[in-house]
Amino acid sequence: MNKSTDMFTRAQRVIPGGVNSPVRAFKSVDRGPLFIAAAKGSQITDVDHRNYIDFVGSWGPMIVGHAHEEILDTLHETAMRGTSFGAPTGLEIQIAEKIVKMVNSVDLVRLVNSGTEATMSAVRLARGYTERDKIIKFDGCYHGHGDSFLIQAGSGAMTLGEPNSPGIPRSIVSNTLGAEFNNLHSVRDLFAIYPNEVAAVIVEPIAGNMGVIPPAEDFLPGLREVCNDFDALLIFDEVMTGFRVHPGGAQVLYGVEPDITTFGKIIGGGLPVGAYGGRHEIMELLAPVGPVYQAGTLSGNPLAVAAGLKTLEIINRPGFYESLNSKSTNFFEQTRQFIKKNGLPLSLNYVNSMGCLFFNQGKVDNYKEALKCDTDKFAKYFGNMLDAGIYLAPSQYEAMFISAAHSDEDLDYTFDTLQKILLEIYNLSK
Ligand code: PMP
Repeated sequence: MNKSTDMFTRAQRVIPGGVNSPVRAFKSVDRGPLFIAAAKGSQITDVDHRNYIDFVGSWGPMIVGHAHEEILDTLHETAMRGTSFGAPTGLEIQIAEKIVKMVNSVDLVRLVNSGTEATMSAVRLARGYTERDKIIKFDGCYHGHGDSFLIQAGSGAMTLGEPNSPGIPRSIVSNTLGAEFNNLHSVRDLFAIYPNEVAAVIVEPIAGNMGVIPPAEDFLPGLREVCNDFDALLIFDEVMTGFRVHPGGAQVLYGVEPDITTFGKIIGGGLPVGAYGGRHEIMELLAPVGPVYQAGTLSGNPLAVAAGLKTLEIINRPGFYESLNSKSTNFFEQTRQFIKKNGLPLSLNYVNSMGCLFFNQGKVDNYKEALKCDTDKFAKYFGNMLDAGIYLAPSQYEAMFISAAHSDEDLDYTFDTLQKILLEIYNLSK
């Protein structure tokens, strides 16, 4: 028995399911999780001393790679001065100034501790601002585990949602309306039924939690328009896409300004941070200026902010995105060509350094399409890649992230291995 298996057994005695976040359990790929001992650059090492090329990147934050020397240095220096004060610090001003400078639609920003906190707070703020209760979210979009967001996908766009998790009161669920990603009609239909009740539409501008699904050309501009028409706020959840696909977020890539943006992952540089921001008139409704309450003992924690600030500094250096995007595009395009050449029943979506290989032929542009994937085939692919030293997210519906630390050799090896494994899976190997 290997150490990971041992540790998983031990963990399950004291932690529900042995993990502190469900997808880590590898349940959908019929394996036990790897317990991680360390990571450096593009490599992650398990407790059995096996190395893997890591494309999970802690689910998105590690855009500059693991254990980056400059981030370690700043963490050390910061920690030496104390790890939490529950009082304002200069670091918080610096990171806020940086976010405001990088993201056009943000005048003021509030720091929290996770993406979930950011989206929950953003929705509360939108409700306070509009004095309305309902929100529209899209099937297959994930906005953290706040009650309002855990709504069963596939509940018809015109019907009220059903909670997909026990423990969520029906009264809360009835205020979340489900629409179809990339389908403006489904949104307009909901506004037609509830013209004066919708506080906000919340969307991942590039969906990253049902695999990766880019927005159709008219989708985000259409959402902007319909929100304007009905005086509802548009919230872009850029917890995953923020600072990943563009220094100014997906909102710059697609030229649409939301009213509120949520952040997480990269702005913490691998430590727990979330944030939400928007225009003055909206953000100034927050306590202590206004009446909408939101707070946090560890919010703006010096260590988390220092790691985030250093990460933002690194990604702002000349050539950072050019290099990351060009190697990512190269990798994903090669993969796409390979699929086409061999007529494999797969499709690939990607935007710059985030992508997803769907085990489903044909265009995947919404949740319904994503659900058609052959998850057994995915599990096989995942397992074989893992055995070959490539650590992918253990679910068909997660993104693959390329970081600045991935070398050409890492990507070449991954592409070669992926070709071999896919040909084997489809019985096409020579
Ligand atoms: N929004 C999006 C788009 C996410 O991808 C995630 C996490 N994967 C969250 C919110 C929740 O963030 P956290 O896990 O930090 O609470």
